[in-house]
Amino acid sequence: MVIIGGGNVAIDVARSVRRLGAEKVTLVCLESGEEMPAWQWEVEEAQEEDIRVMNSWGPRSVFSEEGVVKGLELKRCTSVFDAEGNFRPEFDETDTATVVADNVIIAIGQRGDLTCLEGSQVKLAGEGRIRWDRETLALSQEGIFACGEVATGPASAVEAVFDGHRAATAIAHYLESGELLEQPPVELAHLDDLPDEVAEKVKVLDPVAAETQPAETRGRDFSEIERGYTEAEALAEARRCLACTTGALVDEAKCAGCLTCVRICPFGVATVEQTAVMPQEKCQACGLCAAQCPAAAIALKRFGTDEMTGKLREMVADMKRKDSRTPLIVSYCCLFEMTSRGFIRQSQEDYPRKGVLPVMIPCVARLSVVDVLRPFEAGADAVVIIACSDGSCLYPTAEERLLGRVRQAKGVLAEIGLEEERIDFWKTEGSAEVSWTAFWELSRKKLQEIEKTHAGETK
Ligand code: SF4
Ligand code: SF4
Repeated sequence: MVIIGGGNVAIDVARSVRRLGAEKVTLVCLESGEEMPAWQWEVEEAQEEDIRVMNSWGPRSVFSEEGVVKGLELKRCTSVFDAEGNFRPEFDETDTATVVADNVIIAIGQRGDLTCLEGSQVKLAGEGRIRWDRETLALSQEGIFACGEVATGPASAVEAVFDGHRAATAIAHYLESGELLEQPPVELAHLDDLPDEVAEKVKVLDPVAAETQPAETRGRDFSEIERGYTEAEALAEARRCLACTTGALVDEAKCAGCLTCVRICPFGVATVEQTAVMPQEKCQACGLCAAQCPAAAIALKRFGTDEMTGKLREMVADMKRKDSRTPLIVSYCCLFEMTSRGFIRQSQEDYPRKGVLPVMIPCVARLSVVDVLRPFEAGADAVVIIACSDGSCLYPTAEERLLGRVRQAKGVLAEIGLEEERIDFWKTEGSAEVSWTAFWELSRKKLQEIEKTHAGETK
């Protein structure tokens, strides 16, 4: 089989015919290896499946015998694009080659079939496209709108769906008002590059590779090649997210310009002019500044501890309603160590048998002293903080800062006559599920002892 084309569709065709039983599959394209529009990893996977890729060749003629295809004659393609980048292939007619084949499949750029518009007043833009207005999505004939590649030219399916929504809105508006609706193209937000001095402090985590079928077995049928992520792998991959634009937001009215955030920001991002400034393209959303700001002037745009305050009160009240006698531990756990949401759900459902309410936080170092004490105010009897395992924290100095706040919170408990031991700090060891369960059990036993002593003292 010979496939003509160098895009992802051509690769799909080549890999499909291999699975349908073709013994030898050759893909021929004008572009060099670097110019091929197909994704590099697709090309590599095709080659692993024994598909031959012939770059920089163009079809000259199909040769046949008695009406039956016997192969393809090729001519060398010396360049694909002109100096302006336009598609204008050049060939060396003296440099030729042949590929024996009993089938030739053409898998090159397709165009829209616009025959349905013949006889209409809709104007065409050439190359199988319709002339349209980008903002109103209207065509030259009133009352007709367009979206997708027939209007925009080559794009992605996601963009076509997005344009479909815009077209539906435009049509609804037109039907209701008889007017065209201006919908300016959406400008995507642009973030400046992370400056080197910040980037060098960011912990780089390797991508998590999904398991794939080996090349020797996968070319035989259409079974899935890439198994996809397990839940634990997906969570590990998500951990690599730099959380851009979810970081610190300063309330200028509260900021006292005390420089605490400048002093503790482990990425050197925070500065103070009149008030504190944390540029969103630099902030790593660790939350250390928000936890430490003496004026409580900093919030995180997403996943800040303030988001959980109301919910925490509700959950503690709900737990206490179900069973007011079992001592309740609120356990703040590092979200980055979680490998199973089912485990957390199950742990929450297991109350009152276990007496632990796990609360997941993207880095427990976001907890302020107030956050550590808040569960007591809501009715909990102890707080257990479980940080990530040794060496895995993404944020420099996070643990020592948190431990400082834990000490402060213990001091507050002592001042109001409660035992400091009601606050525990652990670090994940190995499997989160196993070590967290063990820590909860240890803390639960300790709490029982404290409660016994407490009850004895108050008699
Ligand atoms: S720590 Fe808080 S009060 Fe101090 S400068 Fe930063 S934002 Fe302002
Ligand atoms: S959230 Fe972290 S990285 Fe961002 S300004 Fe605060 S301390 Fe610095």
